[in-house]
Order: sequence, then C-alpha cells, then structure tokens
Amino acid sequence: MTGWKHGTPSGAQMHYRMGEKPCEACRAAKNEYNRKKNHLRRLVHRCISIPEGVLVELYLNATPEAQEHLEAVIDLPTLDRMVAAHDEKESA
Ligand SMILES: [Zn+2]
Repeated sequence: MTGWKHGTPSGAQMHYRMGEKPCEACRAAKNEYNRKKNHLRRLVHRCISIPEGVLVELYLNATPEAQEHLEAVIDLPTLDRMVAAHDEKESA
C-alpha cells in the first residue's frame, strides 16, 4: 500500500482500514492527536459567558501559554476585533 504517510493520525486510520494494528509511529501520532483534541474539547465544552472587555483584559495580561490556549478556541479575527475595540476604548 502506497500513498499514505506513517507517523500521522490519518496513517493510523489507514492501518485500521487495512484491518491491522497501527505501527508505533502512527500509534504515537494518533495518541497525540487525540490528546490535543480532547484537551480542546474540554476547554470548549465548559462554557461561561463573560463580557468581551474582561476577556480582552485577561488575554492581554495572560502568559504566552495562556494566550495560545485562547487563540486555539477563539478565531483570530474575532480576537483581533475585540482587542482593537478594547484599545479604542482605552485611548478614548
Ligand atoms: Zn504506520
């Protein structure tokens, strides 16, 4: 079988489709993929509502790591728009 890459989540999928256990590289890639997906899902499914201004302030004062988490769950144009609106209010 050619045309599929080992060491990727879709590689693992191909192993399953062929009725075999994924090789070590594919298994590791799949585990890592699931770990990230579950992590994000947990973040996304525990939802609360907070005012945009408060969120932006938290974002701007957050550690780079925490900012990355936020950027993973909010699309960047939305985040940019909120930050811009926040800056405008600050300078007004
Ligand atoms: Zn493989």
